[in-house]
Amino acid sequence: MAGADRKQGAEAIRRVPVLLPYPFPGPFDYRVPPDCDPQPGDIALVPLNRREELGVVWDTPPSSPPPLVGGGWGEGCEPTADGGSTHPSPQHPPTRGGGELFPQSGAYPASYAGTGSVPDHKLKPLIGLVDTPPMREDLRRLVDWMAAYTLAPPGEVMAMALRVNRAAPAPVTGWRLADPQPETRLTDARRRVIEALTQTQPRSTAELARVAGVSNGVVRGMADAGLLVPVTLSGAAPFAIPDPDYPGSVLSADQQQAAAVLRQAVAARAFSVTLLDGVTGSGKTEVYLEAIAECLRHRRQALVLLPEIALSSQWLERFERRFGVAPAVWHSDLTSRVRRFTWRAVAEGAAPVVVGARSALFLPFPDLGLVVVDEEHETAFKQEEGVVYHARDMAVVRARFCAAPAVLVSATPSLETVANVEAGRYQRITLPTRHAGALMPHVAAIDMRETPPARGHFLAPPLIEAVRETLARGEQAMLFLNRRGYAPLTLCRHCGHRMQCPNCTAWLVEHRTRRELQCHHCGHTVPIPDACPACAAANSLTAVGPGVERITEEAASLFPEARRLVMASDTMPGPHAAAEASRAIAAREVDLIIGTQIVAKGWHFPHLTLVGVVDADLGLAGGDLRAAERTVQLLHQVAGRAGRAEAPGRVLLQTFSPEHPVMQALVAGDLAGFMASEAAQRRPGHWPPYGRLAALIVSADSALLADALARDLGRAAPHGEGMDVLGPAPAPLAILRGRHRRRLLLKTRRDVAVQPILRAWLAKVPVPRGGRVDVDVDPVSFL
Ligand code: ADP
Ligand code: ZN
Repeated sequence: MAGADRKQGAEAIRRVPVLLPYPFPGPFDYRVPPDCDPQPGDIALVPLNRREELGVVWDTPPSSPPPLVGGGWGEGCEPTADGGSTHPSPQHPPTRGGGELFPQSGAYPASYAGTGSVPDHKLKPLIGLVDTPPMREDLRRLVDWMAAYTLAPPGEVMAMALRVNRAAPAPVTGWRLADPQPETRLTDARRRVIEALTQTQPRSTAELARVAGVSNGVVRGMADAGLLVPVTLSGAAPFAIPDPDYPGSVLSADQQQAAAVLRQAVAARAFSVTLLDGVTGSGKTEVYLEAIAECLRHRRQALVLLPEIALSSQWLERFERRFGVAPAVWHSDLTSRVRRFTWRAVAEGAAPVVVGARSALFLPFPDLGLVVVDEEHETAFKQEEGVVYHARDMAVVRARFCAAPAVLVSATPSLETVANVEAGRYQRITLPTRHAGALMPHVAAIDMRETPPARGHFLAPPLIEAVRETLARGEQAMLFLNRRGYAPLTLCRHCGHRMQCPNCTAWLVEHRTRRELQCHHCGHTVPIPDACPACAAANSLTAVGPGVERITEEAASLFPEARRLVMASDTMPGPHAAAEASRAIAAREVDLIIGTQIVAKGWHFPHLTLVGVVDADLGLAGGDLRAAERTVQLLHQVAGRAGRAEAPGRVLLQTFSPEHPVMQALVAGDLAGFMASEAAQRRPGHWPPYGRLAALIVSADSALLADALARDLGRAAPHGEGMDVLGPAPAPLAILRGRHRRRLLLKTRRDVAVQPILRAWLAKVPVPRGGRVDVDVDPVSFL
């Protein structure tokens, strides 16, 4: 019976692979019902373990997998010879937390596509197709590519794209001004809304709130008061078309030259990568806006990735000044309504320019003509949770799949990108001077051993003096300390007990204004106790070391007259607060800014002439591979906020080791020299970007299990020419959220692809229940 039956079945039954948003090793096959014709990319509803799930009809890529970036990103913009190397093989088990979601007990509803191990008659039928736009082919290839490169299960990568895709279209309500306007007294906020609406066509609540710099509540309140009346916005064109020929800035000769190179790259309609490298304040944004203008002239779409979209108010203003209208904005905090119309507008080509966070990579551009990554050196582009990937590198991959140019922008480019330039893979254009003759700030170190601060204080006399002078001249000053809260450590003066997080290997950070101690890793929060929890001594807990709150307190007593503003992620949550802060500074309503790394982010404050770095040594502790590089980048960016207009800028670095190469480089303004010496240090040992790294992060419920799993991985470690395995070792964050963590590091020469090695390695070691192995290819954080 079997023979004849099966043959008949093979003719009658059609199977289709569906990729589900879970960490399975690949798609599953489903039987196609008679009246259904699924095509690759269609969103399908399928049965899974007695539930119904959404998945995407997948197509196994043609025999040769997508061209690979041979790692350390960017290379490879040509296909590698051993193309198959980093394509996942269906036989391998999931690498992370294998089987946690569904036990591997045959509970799978179907076979993995292509293995054909599940006979036709056992296949479950697909329930139906969902009436939303399909996932585009270039996105499906991006998903395959990212999964292959990062070793994340393809379903988890696809889930990120599906979340974006599910922003299904719907009609949108906007607001116009009531005519006549009811008689009421207007607050400032309401007046701004009215002003915004007289200048443009109807806008949605969120758009209007953003343009007017008010909260959504203000707009809704005005609607309730009859000041605004609803109109249905046409779904297709929620975004006005930026005008490339709107009168913009007049570019300097250098800027013109740079813009011409970028315009040419856009006009070529081909993949290329260009580093736009220019000193802080040189007008890099103005220059790449010209590339966007060219892209608009070709009627293609442009994508701009920013590291922190919440801090983009000045960027958005600049865009409007250049093109007359606002761009589309994309990030994870959009309301579902805004997401929907933005998604649809992108899919229909009606959003010509999108500025967004990492997830904007998964938007369905039908004709992407340019990808810009601003502040390309920023570690915020690395996603550390879930699928671990670097958005800068994936932006380059996306550009490649769309045959579009990518432009990476920074005043302090990463060594990775510089190495790609030096190897001839990327081209580089340089803006050597600040715009309009502004000079680079003068940088000097304050030796904290020679001129220490007063006891129990953190600002040294030369810095205090400099702030006084600056304020006396009516200019603005900034104090930078990359640490939130009041103090990083609280200890008992009596018994020496340190307040530690119960879930993490970390101290609790005091937030005095909130009267709390908080763990910055897991969020665990407790009220500040009155007595030491260890020895019960009363009033014995004392703050050790400064955070921005403590510096603010010190500044308040030193400069009581100065109007102060604290800029930190917890004091300035969300885009409105950041936009308001930026407005207040530009309007000179603030004299002294005290902030964390937020202040380093591309701001242009023309009246700011002094930057004081409270602890320039802070980022150098810890011995991370890129500690020095990152410190130079961060401090140079902070320094770059000073003296951007006529008045010259001045930067003072408080340090205990002014002779350190990082301080020397900053004082001399010699970034290139510093990067060259970094390169020389990393090259011989094959450290990135001159070699490859991949980390395995073992975590488990218990230290015992973590040790056992790490040991097993250590024993199964790959050996061979050009590769080394370092560890296992306890992670610096040995306990995080109650999980015990160990790390192993695979280091290879550049010509060795790490993915096949990792895959073979992981396949040898079963992950027991309660244990987990996370893979981080090209790690940025080593915690
Ligand atoms: P960067 O991004 O290189 O730090 P920006 O693009 O922020 O520099 O430019 C610094 C400031 O100079 C901004 O306020 C910008 O508007 C202004 N600027 C730059 N180029 C021009 C130009 N050609 N004409 C007028 N203003 C310019
Ligand atoms: Zn914690």
